[in-house]
Amino acid sequence: MNIKDNLQAIEARIRSACEKAGRSRSEVKLVAVSKTQPAEAVIEAAEAGQILFGENRVQEALPKISRCPQYLHWHLIGHLQRNKARIAASGLFRMIHSVDSEKLLCALDEYTATPLPILIQVNVSGEGSKFGCAPDETAALVNAANQCSQVEVHGLMTIPPFTADPEKARIHFSNLRKLRDRLQEETDTPLPELSMGMSRDFEIAIEEGATYIRVGSDIFGGRS
Ligand SMILES: *Cc1c(COP(=O)(O)O)cnc(C)c1O
Repeated sequence: MNIKDNLQAIEARIRSACEKAGRSRSEVKLVAVSKTQPAEAVIEAAEAGQILFGENRVQEALPKISRCPQYLHWHLIGHLQRNKARIAASGLFRMIHSVDSEKLLCALDEYTATPLPILIQVNVSGEGSKFGCAPDETAALVNAANQCSQVEVHGLMTIPPFTADPEKARIHFSNLRKLRDRLQEETDTPLPELSMGMSRDFEIAIEEGATYIRVGSDIFGGRS
């Protein structure tokens, strides 16, 4: 299978998940996760029509982005250290999915010259990932984002703990959606975006309300 065929297969899976969930296909955006892949793989996906890509390390993304067509859109989806906030906010990325502290939020706001959409990464399960804020810290972060001049909070992101059975992720996706619903009320802030679901579990995430799914290996093949 090549990247174009893989993208077609993903598209079919997205459509059938949307149908099953009674959602419109247009509510779900595919982030093609190109971490560890060379620029050539991104270009191949772009030639097949994919425009939105996700990278999880600034240092890896920088040279890759400069080798790819300028019309592509890039999101930063991986953990961001505060000492990389300046580069991350320099206009390379249209969205940052992984903001999990007020310090990082403020650093991004300080460095960005234009409005910068972000998602707050939440560790909904309290296990697995060491990144992401606790669910009960999220309201404070949304309120802090509302005080920023350039950073705009658009929603929440999560990475559930890895389990052999993808169905076990469902509760975490549904908890992220419920947290979002509560926060919208509590903070009076629209939070339309939910970034959740990867290669093995994105259909379940779509059923639970995902608006961004982040898919790497099922598009580009395995990573070494
Ligand atoms: C690598 C990665 C993905 C993609 O995972 P796959 O299992 O390859 O689809 C999604 N989100 C984040 C944050 C990642 O680091």
